[in-house]
Amino acid sequence: MGGESVAQRAPKSDYPLRAPKPVGQMISGIYKERIAQFYAGGQWEHNNLRAMMNEGVVSGEPHVKLSVWDAPDQTRPTFDDAVSHEFKETSVGSWFGPSWTTHWFKVVLKVPEDLLDKHLLELHWDGNNEGLVWTEDGNPLQGLTGGGERVEWILPESFRDGREHTIYIEMACNGMFGNAAGGDAIQPPDPNKYFQLSRAEIVAVNPDARQLYIDIWIIGDAAREFPSDSWEQHKALNICNKIIDTFELGNKDSLKACRTIAEDYLGPNVNSAKVYDTGKEALVFGIGHCHIDSCWLWPFAETKRKVARSWSNQCDLMDRYPELNFACSQAQQYKWLKQLYPYVFERVKKKVAEGRFHPIGGSWVEHDTNMPSGESLVRQFLYGQRFYEGNFGKRCQTFWLPDTFGYSSQLPQLCRLSGMTRFFTQKLSWNNINKFPHTTFNWISLDGSQVICHMPPTETYTADAHFGDVKRSMSQHKSLDQDATSLLVFGKGDGGGGPTWEHIEKLRRCRGIADTVGLLPRVHMGNSVDDFFDALERKASSLTTWYGELYFEFHRGTYTTQANNKRNNRKSEIVLRDVELLAALTSLKNKSYKYPKKDIDDMWESVLLCQFHDCLPGSSIEMCYDDSNKIYAELFETAGRILKDISKALGVSEVKSTTIDNGIALNTLPWHRKALVDISANEAAVACGTGPLLNLRAFKTSDKSPTVTLHKSSEGVFILENNQLKVEVKAGCITSLFDKSTEREVIPKGQKANQYVIFDDKPLYWQAWDVEVYHLDTREELSCGETKAHEEKDHRVSVVTETKISNKSHIETIITLSAAIDGEQSYVEITSKVVWHETMRFLKVEFPVDVRNTEASYETQFGVVKRPTHYNTSWDMAKFEVCCHKFADLSEHGYGVSILNDSKYGFATVGSLMRLSLLRSPKAPDANADMGTHHIRWAILPHGGSLGPTTVRKAYEFNNPLKLLSMSSDDNSSVARSILTAAEPPVYLTPNSDQSLVLDTIKRGEDDEDISHGDLPAKDGRSVVLRIYESLGGRGRGTVATTWNVDKVTKTNLLEDDLEEVSLKDGKFAIDLRPFEVATYKLHLA
Ligand SMILES: [Zn+2]
Repeated sequence: MGGESVAQRAPKSDYPLRAPKPVGQMISGIYKERIAQFYAGGQWEHNNLRAMMNEGVVSGEPHVKLSVWDAPDQTRPTFDDAVSHEFKETSVGSWFGPSWTTHWFKVVLKVPEDLLDKHLLELHWDGNNEGLVWTEDGNPLQGLTGGGERVEWILPESFRDGREHTIYIEMACNGMFGNAAGGDAIQPPDPNKYFQLSRAEIVAVNPDARQLYIDIWIIGDAAREFPSDSWEQHKALNICNKIIDTFELGNKDSLKACRTIAEDYLGPNVNSAKVYDTGKEALVFGIGHCHIDSCWLWPFAETKRKVARSWSNQCDLMDRYPELNFACSQAQQYKWLKQLYPYVFERVKKKVAEGRFHPIGGSWVEHDTNMPSGESLVRQFLYGQRFYEGNFGKRCQTFWLPDTFGYSSQLPQLCRLSGMTRFFTQKLSWNNINKFPHTTFNWISLDGSQVICHMPPTETYTADAHFGDVKRSMSQHKSLDQDATSLLVFGKGDGGGGPTWEHIEKLRRCRGIADTVGLLPRVHMGNSVDDFFDALERKASSLTTWYGELYFEFHRGTYTTQANNKRNNRKSEIVLRDVELLAALTSLKNKSYKYPKKDIDDMWESVLLCQFHDCLPGSSIEMCYDDSNKIYAELFETAGRILKDISKALGVSEVKSTTIDNGIALNTLPWHRKALVDISANEAAVACGTGPLLNLRAFKTSDKSPTVTLHKSSEGVFILENNQLKVEVKAGCITSLFDKSTEREVIPKGQKANQYVIFDDKPLYWQAWDVEVYHLDTREELSCGETKAHEEKDHRVSVVTETKISNKSHIETIITLSAAIDGEQSYVEITSKVVWHETMRFLKVEFPVDVRNTEASYETQFGVVKRPTHYNTSWDMAKFEVCCHKFADLSEHGYGVSILNDSKYGFATVGSLMRLSLLRSPKAPDANADMGTHHIRWAILPHGGSLGPTTVRKAYEFNNPLKLLSMSSDDNSSVARSILTAAEPPVYLTPNSDQSLVLDTIKRGEDDEDISHGDLPAKDGRSVVLRIYESLGGRGRGTVATTWNVDKVTKTNLLEDDLEEVSLKDGKFAIDLRPFEVATYKLHLA
């Protein structure tokens, strides 16, 4: 190379030649941790942002004058009652209690001169429990929750006049989650808790400081939670540190400067709902919600106040935050509000009309769906939707049930028949064995009906609207191939509360980040749940599908805990069925008898309330069961009175003994019955026929068929035998059950049926809720005492055995065999009286049977659900304890065995072993759950063929035994006589109909002109409603015949809206049902 090179001049630069100082990289962990210190309490609070939150605070006299009246005992008096008493002076620092008591405070506020023109004046009240602010003249304004949860009430403008103003605060001595002892929320309540009033002060808030606090909280979350390989995370970290460096204690202008820095990350619009108006597509839909358990760790009475507190909060927030949309379920809670807090109810109604407050769910309460009967589920929707329609002029489109413990496979069908196409839930994310694979999907019923189901990816219905919740709405979404939208359901819940101003402010910033920086999914407010589902519905055909039960792999103990409550549920469902059917028939037969619609509505509302998802499952505190016992007792009393009135109208009376000539049997089942009825201590008759009243005829032992014998084959071994079954009982267990008609031995050789077994029952945490798979490893057989002859009558024999469980607990078991009736399948009946005082033990009874199948069948609402009898996969094994209704069945081709029960819901079938769950003994949240005496009945029903109508019908019959009635000899019984001598019953399925069809419900039409009651207007005419379902999973064809004077018949939905007219000829109409279809017909009477 040669020649001269010409130096190129670099462009002029300010870049210094020499480095002036060393500059280090941010040590990420330390700079991140520093952020929280900026607003933390404790040692920093006088020198960080917290020190500038308020511009003035006053408490005590003359600015905050306090006096109190303590309501006696655990009463919850009304406002008028409370303020009529004398209030005595009190002050901050005083203690109030004990648990569950109520204290009314008169609070006289006088804003000091120097705070009068401050931007935002609040009362900060923290009683460390729950409270409700009332105006001086008795209007409830807003709820308060202590422990810093919700302690601010904004002073009205009218208080800025330097004068005294009075409000009242109703203090409830319980926290949001009741009064649990110690730090463990599910421990039984401590009856002696006291609460200190720690704050009662007027505060002038510095709005810039408060807003900056939310700014840095959320940007700080971005710094902490965005991935460290993203520029967005690094920028968040830088901005936070810049804000902290810019802050000057005491300098209000520095707050504004800090907020300007925050805008770099949040955008300019986070101070208002304008932040959502960017027109960009959002995928996450924020919806305010407040889950209020109708009872749980507190009684129903407290829930009524929680509703007023929580929902008035939301009305208040809506006035300040135009983007807030709030959805809340449970018609029962709206009804309580209407009755007890008309002021709040009107406020809610106004917000509903504005389209901001969204009644949702369509059901009476957020109920359990495992155990209520099919008809109960129908009524949850019927009573729920009717309330919404009657009070808000609109039915719900979405069934809302975030927090229930398993989902019946018939829910989609029942939803569709109640006008709902969508379903929202969440609890399945708690599965502790298998992860449910979908977020958004079509859920398909046993009959093929579908609803769109969405489970929020955040896996909560009480989100705190954190940055992380918004982030997880995308990162945990499992259906992104089909649709990326999701609901973010936020607001304090379980114990009520709902969204706070902080939640809404945080979401504004999350949206700001999404539009300014990106990476976070865009959250949108201002849409309703229905808007969200409307959009999904348009792409429903591309969503994945899930057929059948959504089995919850958790909380399996809830099929058994609180046995008495479950028994009351079953008995009340049965008595209500009887009452409606008999009252309907009687009201049409006897003009002077009036159908007791109001009583029926009241009783149904009671049953529906007690099916709440912590009540019926047994997961509430003892107080709730004291309440439900009272509710059920009242119900049975009302039902008893109505049945007496009906008997009177028919001219019959219920008796313990009578003669064949005067006696008749009351039958409420819709098929031909032939069964034994005891007519005196030692004598039985045979009732036979179809319809509500059956004639009796003599039971003759000399007949060639009906006879039953008992003989002792050796010491302690008895043979009970009729002409269908031969049963050997040895030491309390059935060692042989021989079915003569099929010549089959039901019990495998060497095995014992009706064997009691007991298990250690210590779940991982949730005692009343859970039984864990490992309890099966602790199986222990209970050994029985000697079996003795108990009863030896011409028509029935039985043996009795005492079984010792422990020094405190024992069982008396009676095994009975009745004479077999020609054409009726005989079964072995077991009646037990269990005295139960155990701790964390689980009692079950086993039935090994010589039947083989990989699937067993369990009765569910309006049908049967099949579940595996093996543990092939973790999904199969997860079903180690399942829910059944009146029967469980294990059948192979040609033969099977059903276990019937009168009050139980827990079952398991493992291989060829069937096992009925009887009693648990958890100690939390009710320390006395299930202690005491229990009466339980079950039966072993062998049958030829696989599962069929024999089992379905016998299970009904087992739960609906015939009742002995007596007719008087005079004219009073003419109505009964005319029923007995009628050629056919008033309404029935003709004998040639498919036997799998069940005419389950007969009731009067809801709005019939002569009985209408409630919020909706009466309709012309009278009608009878029939509910018929196909019970076994096949096509169900049949004919309904009626002797009533029927004008026309319509098929309706569950809400009794006419869908189509059915052709009627000579009082008969044909029906043709899909497998497991639930069909409703309305007979319009002439
Ligand atoms: Zn709940």
